[in-house]
Amino acid sequence: MIIEKISIKPYQLIFKEEYRNSQFSITKRDGWIIEIVSDGISGYGDACPLDGFSLEGHSQSGYGLEGFKLSITDCNEIDLEELLMLSEAHGELQPSVEFAIQSALYDLASKLEGISMRKYLNPNAKDHIKINYYSNSSINPFQGMVVKIKIQNTNLFKQLDLIDKVNDKFQGMAKLRLDLNGAYDLPRAIRLCKMIENKPIDYIEQPLPVDSSMEDMYELGLHTDIPIAVDESVNDIDSISKFLDKQCADVFILKPMTIGGISKIKNMIKLIEENSKRFNISSLLESNVGRLCYLQIASAFNSIEECGIATNLFFKEDICQFPSISNGIINMNDLNGIGIDEIYL
Ligand SMILES: [Mg+2]
Repeated sequence: MIIEKISIKPYQLIFKEEYRNSQFSITKRDGWIIEIVSDGISGYGDACPLDGFSLEGHSQSGYGLEGFKLSITDCNEIDLEELLMLSEAHGELQPSVEFAIQSALYDLASKLEGISMRKYLNPNAKDHIKINYYSNSSINPFQGMVVKIKIQNTNLFKQLDLIDKVNDKFQGMAKLRLDLNGAYDLPRAIRLCKMIENKPIDYIEQPLPVDSSMEDMYELGLHTDIPIAVDESVNDIDSISKFLDKQCADVFILKPMTIGGISKIKNMIKLIEENSKRFNISSLLESNVGRLCYLQIASAFNSIEECGIATNLFFKEDICQFPSISNGIINMNDLNGIGIDEIYL
């Protein structure tokens, strides 16, 4: 293809209220949108690293995108494979850069073919994606819904009270995912698991810090039947292999913004499925541009679990639309590319 133009623009999203987990609280998010134009058609990608999750910061991500742009300034014609390889080179140790470029390239390539990105990647892509809600979601409860709760590193009884309140709010119909964001040590995590054994818990997520030992993770698993998910600890296929080898994770949370390439995500999912483990695709609190691409990935790679993608409800406004959710389901539309209708930058 002939690349006519590349532009890179900053954006900022403001939270409706301060966003808190056990490690930090934030009021806004800063990211970059890359637009790649060919044949008069634009493909879009979002680079929005987050401190505490990402290897790279906001400025570094912007420089990474500029580096990619410079590298193809004098190219007349270049094919998709070469562009994807360039995205890997420029995205080394800065996965948000690789993800944004690949999102823009696949958005563009599928638009040029007049189909959605998910169908471009897989003609048998799923037509609906399940979505989890959050403890502050205000919706009518329904049986089997999945709700995520951010657990803080304060008094355990306080956390127990929070879990009960959320359970009551959704009239006991929700399966609960408890995200600890690595805040607990082994004894505390074991105590929490004991205290919640009779509650409807889908899994506990990242109970121990990223740098905790596999032995501690394994030991936690010996003390509880509650499935254990890993999030911050997983950003490439090697990290997944380690957890599989040591048998100490049941669920893998995949955040494309911290992984990078689409084929990397595909290979990670393949490995997880071969080992009969669970996974879901999850947001890093980025713009709807990034999350639209996540939906396409979840659909193309047949994600069957509730994904943590609908974080748009946390923000005052966004730079493009995001599909609505009904009873935990997003029905995929057939807009071309990643499904951006109109973008406001
Ligand atoms: Mg998490």
